[in-house]
Amino acid sequence: MTPDATWLKDHIRDIADWPKPGVTFKDITPMLADVDAFRFTVDAIADHYAGRTIDKVCGIEARGFIVAAPIAYRFGAGFVPVRKAGKLPWDIEKEEYELEYGTDLLEVHRDAFGRGDQVLIIDDVMATGGTAAATIRLVEKLGATVVGLGFIIELAFLHGRERLTGHDVVSLVTYE
Ligand code: AMP
Repeated sequence: MTPDATWLKDHIRDIADWPKPGVTFKDITPMLADVDAFRFTVDAIADHYAGRTIDKVCGIEARGFIVAAPIAYRFGAGFVPVRKAGKLPWDIEKEEYELEYGTDLLEVHRDAFGRGDQVLIIDDVMATGGTAAATIRLVEKLGATVVGLGFIIELAFLHGRERLTGHDVVSLVTYE
């Protein structure tokens, strides 16, 4: 079968009520373990931005790292980790993002981007878009420019795209 979004969906496993009741967790480990599905995922996101200048690919902890790193390799770009609070060892910039109850912090090293760097942001799932929106703010605070955002999965019923308006957003698999 030709790899496409419908085919890719078969490599994503729904875990009901995890990590808590009412949440359906999108488990991408079957996709990562399948050489064709993993390669399709990396290439399909990278292809969307083909021809654009990309200096840094920014992966959001933790599953975003896995896909961001090979995309960075494909563009000949550097990789930048955006991490949850307290994980990065050097001077950090931070941004708040909303959880269901309360807020948490995303952090990046202050020297992660050069001024004017063209940055692609990658994560596994776009849900409410809050994590991605906070990452955009982090990149822009440090004087870099967001070229676009790439996700494997979009939970469209949570309307995350509305928080990312004005940006080039690509997702491979959408759940309505
Ligand atoms: P949000 O900020 O609401 O867009 O949430 C996105 C972040 O939470 C991403 O880093 C995802 O890895 C994670 N996430 C949210 N919902 C899910 C889900 N249903 N399955 C897997 N990961 C999720």
